[in-house]
Amino acid sequence: MHYRRLGRSGLQLSALGFGAWVTFGRQIGRSQARELVAAAWDHGITLFDNAEGYANGDAERVMGDVIADLRLPRDGYCVSSKVFFGAVDTPGPTQRGLSRKHVREACDGALTRLRVDHLDLYFCHRPDPDTPVAETVWAMDTLIRQGKVLYWGTSEWPAALIREADEIARTHHLHGPTMEQPEYNLLQRERVETEYDALYTDLGLGTTTWSPLASGLLSGKYAGGVPDDSRLAQAGLEWLRTRVLDGDAPAATSPLDRAARFVATAAELGVAPAPLAIAWCLRNPRVSSVLLGASRVDQLLQNLGALDLVDRFDAATWRRVESSVV
Ligand code: NDP
Repeated sequence: MHYRRLGRSGLQLSALGFGAWVTFGRQIGRSQARELVAAAWDHGITLFDNAEGYANGDAERVMGDVIADLRLPRDGYCVSSKVFFGAVDTPGPTQRGLSRKHVREACDGALTRLRVDHLDLYFCHRPDPDTPVAETVWAMDTLIRQGKVLYWGTSEWPAALIREADEIARTHHLHGPTMEQPEYNLLQRERVETEYDALYTDLGLGTTTWSPLASGLLSGKYAGGVPDDSRLAQAGLEWLRTRVLDGDAPAATSPLDRAARFVATAAELGVAPAPLAIAWCLRNPRVSSVLLGASRVDQLLQNLGALDLVDRFDAATWRRVESSVV
């Protein structure tokens, strides 16, 4: 493993992190979750990502129990959570969003579920059009001053809103956003590479990026249909299946076709597609940590192979990889 600074902060994160979305508290049992966290830790992963909305808080409960059970040293790992979607099926108006009330109460809920006394990273999971940005900035600053959160950031916020939050923080001498959590993979590049470009230098923004395999698509597993035991076969995730397999908007080339061409290129290079796709994310120095997901230990172990692929190919070969998905 190697470690990278979270933007301009002093925090070092493992270049690969591990997240609980869909899997913990939902798709897999507690013993499998324990095996995954143990394998991640044994291979140097020190960032574990979660959110109040993942399985209505159950993902955090499982992760908290597993980390406690494995007796990971609290000063040796970082745990992150996110606030916005709420932790119940149909959240009432004060049980979701980025108001001072919900930010405070959601943080306390995450601390309890994760069994820690502070969150290393805390994200505003989406922008909240019903709360003034200044209210959220003050609420996050308060959590930091209370010692409940160490660094706060955003997830999938437009660049202009991140800049606004940063300006409010500077004006009032508050802690501003340190990091973003955007989607980043071979099929989704615009936000990380273009929209946020100036924020890396102007604000020193770090990133913990999600879905390096586009929910598994870039492993090639959906080429022959949707396997019964895969994420996109899960009940309740029909929206994700449509988004991943059909794409957001009608396009000349479907995500499935783009993935098929990428998988063929990986085969020509003699490597498995999943670690190649993850290695491609790691090549971007703006990425502080690539968040992995896995439902089985063998997937995680294969994906860790990305670390060895980053420097294996020359620039021309990486351009070939990129052009395979255009
Ligand atoms: P990926 O795109 O890597 O998808 C992971 C899934 O792909 C696994 O659960 C598994 O699903 C499948 N998979 C993984 N490795 C392999 C392999 N080698 N071969 C075949 N299939 C494989 O990442 P995620 O979408 O899980 O995102 C990672 C993390 O990012 C999340 O856990 C979460 O913490 C964070 N995240 C944040 C978001 C945000 O809005 N801030 C949104 C989404 C994620 P299966 O076996 O079920 O098919």
